[in-house]
Amino acid sequence: MTSSVTVRVPAKVNLQLSVGPLRDDGFHDLVNVFHAVSLFDEVTASEADTLTVRVVGDSAAQVPVDGDNLAIRAARALAARAGRPYGANLVIRKHIPVAGGMAGGSADAAAALVACDRLWGLGLSRDDLREIAADLGSDVPFALLGGTAVGTGRGETLSPLPVSGRFHWVFALADGGLSTPQVYGECDRLREAAGQRPGWPALSPALAQALRDGDAKALGGALVNDLQPAAIMLRRSLARTLEVGREHGALGALVSGSGPTCAFLAESEVHARELAISLAGAGVCRTVVGAYGPVPGAVLV
Ligand code: ATP
Repeated sequence: MTSSVTVRVPAKVNLQLSVGPLRDDGFHDLVNVFHAVSLFDEVTASEADTLTVRVVGDSAAQVPVDGDNLAIRAARALAARAGRPYGANLVIRKHIPVAGGMAGGSADAAAALVACDRLWGLGLSRDDLREIAADLGSDVPFALLGGTAVGTGRGETLSPLPVSGRFHWVFALADGGLSTPQVYGECDRLREAAGQRPGWPALSPALAQALRDGDAKALGGALVNDLQPAAIMLRRSLARTLEVGREHGALGALVSGSGPTCAFLAESEVHARELAISLAGAGVCRTVVGAYGPVPGAVLV
């Protein structure tokens, strides 16, 4: 048995988030193109008799350190699967914005699964880990997989998408988070008020082609997020943030997932740096980070 294991896990941005009609079970059918970017949390699992978690980093105070922490829930689910009351001290080094629409909690859950599997010497297959991940939340399986993939159903059925090259991104991080269920609720409310009946969502052929070709300009034009109007409704300032990015030549600008992080696609690494400076200078967000994608999912370091 190893005494300490560290796993690095990426944030995601949704390149396409198409939200179908509300189902009877309260979920929506989605077409969700996930793209893993080089903005990472790290989870270290060390030997211990009980399960504990500690979070370090700027936004640590916003993350629960009890049984609600998704990394703890993941470790518990893994121990239950193994049929033994394993313990571990988990330390999360948090860089992914909390409640920012970049699936940071899901990322930590995926990292905890990989770390504890190794710490406890279980040797589960990726398929087994994916099954446990899917029970923890619809974004967790993607954090294990990484790359670029399309999720269907609630987002948990994943197929990798072919991508050429690398895309350069700038993320504008906002103060405070947005609640994902609240954003979905607002999306339903806006649609009902407008008398809109959403159709069955499908993967955008233009988006898939742009990814295959490594064509940033085409990708910028094909980005779509059905949750964006709802996120803007709940946080009006996001409209201005997106506008500033577009004014400075972003090839695409959209709210990431349920927000409030905004994602901007740049022409190149140099352009990403310029765009980041412009966004920071305009005072339309708390802070700005650059990243590229796609990157692999949760990996041992
Ligand atoms: P998504 O994009 O999947 O909707 P998100 O990025 O908007 O998620 P998270 O950062 O995953 O949001 O956090 C959502 C909530 O989950 C937070 O408000 C936080 O209280 C809780 N949470 C539980 N565990 C964690 C964790 N390890 N890291 C971050 N948040 C966590």
